Amino acid sequence: MSLRRKKTVACPKCNKESDYLFWESLNGDLDPEAKTQLIDGTFFQFKCPHCGHECKVDYGMLYHDMAHQTMIYYVSENSVEEIQKLFSDKDGESGFLIPRYRKRIVTNQNALREKAIIFENELDDRVVELFSVK
Ligand SMILES: [Zn+2]
Repeated sequence: MSLRRKKTVACPKCNKESDYLFWESLNGDLDPEAKTQLIDGTFFQFKCPHCGHECKVDYGMLYHDMAHQTMIYYVSENSVEEIQKLFSDKDGESGFLIPRYRKRIVTNQNALREKAIIFENELDDRVVELFSVK
């Protein structure tokens, strides 16, 4: 299931308000179009309907890829600990306890995109991380 919420945002250029769709969670299998946008880097794009100004919107979200049994939580640095607790919930009360799922926490949009691409291509992200250090 994907969770979306429409919110009013003000354009940084013309200051006029418009609706923008924020995704609290994105299920890549149920919303392939949004998943494609995430992978090609246009997901967080905002285009002002009044003046045409384009910019990136930044907010945390959960990306869920059922086909590849992956969850990637994009959060701000100061929420990492909280999400780690959710992900390691032993009693399963959080609903995050799914066996065999790969769960990752990232703190920037690039990392979210990178991991989504890696899992989409069925690579092991730990190996890729090892290589990208060199
Ligand atoms: Zn504008």
